[in-house]
Formats: sequence, structure tokens, C-alpha cells
Amino acid sequence: MTPGCSTYEAIIESCNVDYGIAPESVEFRASPYRKSSTLNGSKRGISSNIVVQELLECPICMNVMHRPIHQCPNGHTLCSKCQSKVRCCPICRHELGNIRCLALECVAESLELPCKYQILGCQDIFSYHGQLWHEQNCKFRPYNCPYAGAECHVTGDIPFLVAHLKSDHKVDMHDGSTFNHIYVKFNPQDVENAMWMLTVFNCYGHQFCLHFEAFNLGMAPVFMAFIRFMGDDHDARKFTYSLEVGASGRKMTWQGIPKSIRDSHTKVRDSMDGLIIQRNMALFLSGGNRQELKLKVAGRIWKEEA
Ligand SMILES: [Zn+2]
Ligand SMILES: [Zn+2]
Ligand SMILES: [Zn+2]
Ligand SMILES: [Zn+2]
Repeated sequence: MTPGCSTYEAIIESCNVDYGIAPESVEFRASPYRKSSTLNGSKRGISSNIVVQELLECPICMNVMHRPIHQCPNGHTLCSKCQSKVRCCPICRHELGNIRCLALECVAESLELPCKYQILGCQDIFSYHGQLWHEQNCKFRPYNCPYAGAECHVTGDIPFLVAHLKSDHKVDMHDGSTFNHIYVKFNPQDVENAMWMLTVFNCYGHQFCLHFEAFNLGMAPVFMAFIRFMGDDHDARKFTYSLEVGASGRKMTWQGIPKSIRDSHTKVRDSMDGLIIQRNMALFLSGGNRQELKLKVAGRIWKEEA
């Protein structure tokens, strides 16, 4: 296929060029999550599939290459992302130019591959191009940490993230499907520094994130409370929740369906899918002397019977 194919690996090992390109999601590509391909077909089919899969790994970023696949004038292949970042071939250092490797692209299209989250439980097999789309939507893919207010790049399954929220973000954990919270803010005029709080509720064998925060919606300072479900969207829709805030004879309620934590915290917030209280209204509902904000939020989560 590619000229110099048989010496490919040996050359890569001896050629220690640091291109300064970080591997993307290499943790799943490289191995522990993907079993050494067990694919359908004969034994010979399996081994040739593995050879092709190895050929499809970009020598720079180690990711699986997708169309367009590029090559140097000597036939060494690399992915299009890396091709746009480096000037010379990682193997032979020849100047790259802009050469496609159509043969390898065609071979790739005939491949069938397991999902990269196979070890997390996904049993599906995909065509080479279908696989990329699938993996971005695979229900076994890890979740992002649901904590708001700080950039956190931790990912994992739900039990792992619950432990992470508890130990690393010191998030309050509560058992039960009803709750009463009081949020106090001493300077209600100040929402410039967005305030946010997260509490996790454990009920019905699942975990729910209650977000409460202050931010500016356009020019208007608002408070917002909403719940996200720690699990996928399909399971999230089985639940309903209500939030109620009130004092001194006034009350606002909200009933909604929790969004999955697959939807980012900001996405849910910006879609305004929750209880939104204008600051002036919040001061009425807080019942205090308007010098401090004291919101009593009562809530309940229940399961809709199908
Ligand atoms: Zn690459
Ligand atoms: Zn080359
Ligand atoms: Zn999958
Ligand atoms: Zn986190």
C-alpha cells in the first residue's frame, strides 16, 4: 500500500521528532478502552483489519485518520489536522506539499470497527465513517463534570463524577426527593460576579444537580434555579421537578423536566429552562430588609409513570 510500509514502525520509533501537537482523546484511541479489535469475519480478515487500523493511525497525533488523509511525496501518511500544522513529513522529513492518499481513504471506507467505548459497554460495530459520528453520540461515552463556575475537564461515568463532585468540588450531597434551601446574599445589588451554587440530590437511584445562580440576562440581573439529571437524556425525561420560591405571601413556582448533564450548564441556563427571578422580584420574595437577599427555595423531584 504505502511505500516503505514494512519499515514503517521501526522508522517511527527511531525518529523522535517532537512536533508539539498534543494527542486528542488519545486516551481512548490508544488502548485501554478499545479491545484489540475483535471483528467479524475470518481470522485472516481480523489480522488484515488490524494492520489497516494501524496504518490509519496518524504518526503525529496518534488519532485515527479520517478523510482527507494526506501523504508526503514518499507516501508516508498523516491526518489532515497535523498536515495543516507541520511542514515536513514526520517520517522522512521531506517537505509535505498537499498530496491526498486516496488509496488509504478507500481502504478505510471498507473497514468495520468497534466503538472506542467498547470497554465501557458499547457492543456496536460501525463502518469507518459511521463510527466517528457514533462515538460522538455513543451513550457509553463519558460525561463531563457538571460543576459550574470553574473550568473542570474531568470526565467519567456517573458514579465517578459523583465521587469527584464530593471530594474535589466539596459539593453538598442530599438524600431524598424533596428539599428546602435558603440562599442568602448579602449584597443583592452585586451580580457582576456571577454567584452559583450546586447541590446534588440522590433519589430514585439517580443523582440530580440543583443549580442556583445569579447572572445578568442581557442588562437585567436575575437569579435562576434549575435541575439537571446525572444520566442520559432518555432517562432524564422520566422525571419532573418543581421549584418554589416565596415569602411574605408571595410565591413563584416552576415545573420542569430536568435536562441531562450531557447538555452543558451554560446551555441549559441560556435556554432559560428553569425558575428565573428578576432581582426586584427576588427582593420582594426574600422578605428581608432589601439589604440582603434571602431566598427560600423548596423543591421536589418525582418520577412520571410511563
Ligand atoms: Zn494527526
Ligand atoms: Zn515521508
Ligand atoms: Zn459506542
Ligand atoms: Zn469537576
